[in-house]
Amino acid sequence: NRQYLFDKYPNDVVTVECFKLWDEVIAQIDAGEVLVRNHYLSLDPYMRGRMSQAKNYAASQDLNTVMQGGTVGEVIESRHPGFKVGDTVLCTGGWQLYFRASPSKDSNHIRKIDVSQISMSVYLGAAGMPGITAWYGLNKILKPQVGETLVVSAASGAVGSVVGQLAKQKGCHVIGIAGGPEKCEYVVETLGFDDCIDYKAYPDTETLSHELKQLAPNGVDAYYENVGGYIMDAVLENLNPFSRVAICGLIAGYDGRSIPISNPRAILVSRASITGFIISDHLDIWPQALADLAEAVANGVLIFKESVSNGLESAPDAFLGLLQGHNFGKQLVKLV
Ligand code: NDP
Repeated sequence: NRQYLFDKYPNDVVTVECFKLWDEVIAQIDAGEVLVRNHYLSLDPYMRGRMSQAKNYAASQDLNTVMQGGTVGEVIESRHPGFKVGDTVLCTGGWQLYFRASPSKDSNHIRKIDVSQISMSVYLGAAGMPGITAWYGLNKILKPQVGETLVVSAASGAVGSVVGQLAKQKGCHVIGIAGGPEKCEYVVETLGFDDCIDYKAYPDTETLSHELKQLAPNGVDAYYENVGGYIMDAVLENLNPFSRVAICGLIAGYDGRSIPISNPRAILVSRASITGFIISDHLDIWPQALADLAEAVANGVLIFKESVSNGLESAPDAFLGLLQGHNFGKQLVKLV
């Protein structure tokens, strides 16, 4: 079983030396276990947080263990009555080709998925953890009303693309922020946002804030934050009184960069409510959110894009790319 182990803590920026390729012999599975062939591995920004000993919402990953990650795949051996060979499953399969699961010990580690309407990889993106994160932040924190202006950063990505599309369906005026003209064009032309600002063309708070003011002259009512840093500062300056901010992620600071809020007065003046959240604290909403999102994807009303790298050996580079914005859509690794 080829796998990647977590080998070294990064010094701020992650490098390929943080990962070690390893071949493990798979022992015969025991009663109650299943063996899964992973087809797709999901690469997600949260993995960066686990590769650190800094205080975080989840425990850091131990060195010399298989890199953690969500996967979808097929059951190839089963000694569990609830699973049969050929079942398609979503699991915490990690950066490896095969995953040995014990469903009776922890059902959260493996779940059957219905691939009759949507392809299995979507359960790692729009109809998976990122989509559910978008759904939660939008519906439970921002609660946007018809006619309100909503801004979302990292707008072309796995989470941001779903946030903006769901907000459009709720009748909002939606402005995305993304890196580069190609991503911005996709966000407007394909995803249907009203506007998208290429933050790379506005490289500081002042110019970005000014551009946002042109596109949202009546201010911002709801902000879905994925990035932090000067992008957040620029949006905070444009918040309306009693607006809402959902802090979903701060990827601009994941490489150890300091990203303080430079103008807290903007929060006082706007009297905004700012709420951080972690989707794993809200497992109760997963069934409803998943049903909504899977149906929307199946009906073609929720559009998604995937950035797929080929082969397990491509995972470290693809992960480094994700942290630098090289992905365009949900970052996956194809393992079969
Ligand atoms: P994406 O698919 O959006 O990929 C990450 C994107 O972030 C990149 O493509 C890039 O887009 C942008 N980015 C990277 N570095 C920077 C930077 N320095 N400045 C500005 N933008 C940057 O990832 P996800 O959709 O999976 O995740 C989006 C956010 O949601 C992350 O912050 C993640 O941690 C968070 N998240 C939080 C969860 C929670 O429970 N709170 C759960 C899941 C995700 P671009 O080229 O446009 O800059």
